[in-house]
Amino acid sequence: MKTIYFDNNATTKVAEQVLKEMRPLFCELYGNPSSMHTFGGQVGIKIRTAREKTAALLGCDPSEIIFTGCGTESDNTAINGTLAAYPNKRKIITSCVEHPAVLSVCRELGSHGYTVVELKVDKQGRLDMAELEKHIDDNTALVTIMYANNETGVVFPIDKIAELVTGRGVVFHTDAVQAVGKIPLNLSKTNIDLLSLSGHKLHGPKGVGALYVRKGTRISPFMLGGHQEAGRRAGTENVPGIVGLGKACELAAKNIEDENTKVKYLRDKLENAILKKCPDCRLNGDKDNRLPNTSNISFEFIEGEAILLMLDKFGICASSGSACTSGSLEPSHVLRAMGVPFTAAHGSIRFSLSRYNTEEEVDYTIEKMPGIVNQLRW
Ligand code: PLP
Repeated sequence: MKTIYFDNNATTKVAEQVLKEMRPLFCELYGNPSSMHTFGGQVGIKIRTAREKTAALLGCDPSEIIFTGCGTESDNTAINGTLAAYPNKRKIITSCVEHPAVLSVCRELGSHGYTVVELKVDKQGRLDMAELEKHIDDNTALVTIMYANNETGVVFPIDKIAELVTGRGVVFHTDAVQAVGKIPLNLSKTNIDLLSLSGHKLHGPKGVGALYVRKGTRISPFMLGGHQEAGRRAGTENVPGIVGLGKACELAAKNIEDENTKVKYLRDKLENAILKKCPDCRLNGDKDNRLPNTSNISFEFIEGEAILLMLDKFGICASSGSACTSGSLEPSHVLRAMGVPFTAAHGSIRFSLSRYNTEEEVDYTIEKMPGIVNQLRW
C-alpha cells in the first residue's frame, strides 16, 4: 500500500538533492573542520557554503547564523542565553500556544523565580498586541513568540511584534521552526533579534538546526567547550547535517513560490471538501493568516486517535491534537487556549502537506474521509 504523507509539520522527507550533498561527508570528506590540514579545511569550506545558503534564505549575514543540534536547542539557547546576558532582568513574555521547546523552558524558569507571562489567544488563535504591550516593562529580558503555530498553522504578525518589542529596548526571539521554508522571510527588513529553525521541517535532515543572532545582540553560549561556531556553540560540527540544512535552505528558496501556490491549492482542496462532505466538523485557527500547508479540523463526537487509526488503514498519515499522557487523552494545549470545546478538541486532526504531495493523494483522502467519519459516529 502506498503511503500518503500528510504529517509534514511533524517531520519531512529529506530531498534527494539534500541527501546527495550530504553523502560524501560521511566516508570521503570526513575530516574535522577545525583541523589545520587541508583535508579538514575542505570540510570547513562546506560549512561556510551551508552558512551562506542558510543566511540567503533568511536575508541575513552568514556571520549571524549559529548551527545547532535541532530547533529545540535553538529555542533553549535563545531563551537561556538571553537571560544569562541580562542577569538583572527577571521577566519573560511568551504565548500560551508555543511549542514545548519554548513553553516548558519558560515554565521551568518560572519555577526558578522568573516572572513568566503567557499571553492568551482568541478563538482564532490570534494574539492581542495591546495585551503584549501592557506587559513589557523594565524588568523584561525577553519576549519569545512563535512565527507560526505547529498545530493550527496560524501565523502571528511577527514583524509588527518585533517592532513593538525592540522599540521598548527588549530582546525579541521567534521560534520560526514551522515558518522557515513555507513562507518568505526577510530578516534584513525586520527587527527580530533571534530566530530558531530546524532542518527536518524543510526537507533537510534531523539533528540539525540554526539560530539567527542579529549582529550586536547580547547572548551567552548555551553549550560550553571548544571554539566552534566562533565560540557561540561548542561541539564538533554535525557536518553532513549542516551541509544538508544548507542545501535544504537553497531548495526552499527556490520552492517557496510553489509552497504558496501548489501546496496551498492542495491544502485548500482537501480542507474544503472535508468541511463540505463531513457533517459537524470545523476548521481550527485563523483561516486567512495561516501557513499554506496546514489544516487543523475538528470532528465533533469522535476521538482524533480513532480517525488516525482508520486513516492509517488506508496508508494516510496525519496527526491529532491530543497527547496521550498516562492513559488519559489530554486535548492539545493550543486548541484549549483557543477555547475549542472539549468534544471538538478531542476530535481534531492536523493535515500538513508538502511539495511532494499530489492531487491524486488529496482526491483519495477526500474519497475516504466521509466513510471514516460516518463509521466512527455510527
Ligand atoms: N518549535 C516548533 C514550532 C516545532 O514545531 C518543533 C518541532 O515540532 C520544534 C520547535 C522543535 O524542533 P526540533 O524537533 O528540531 O527540536
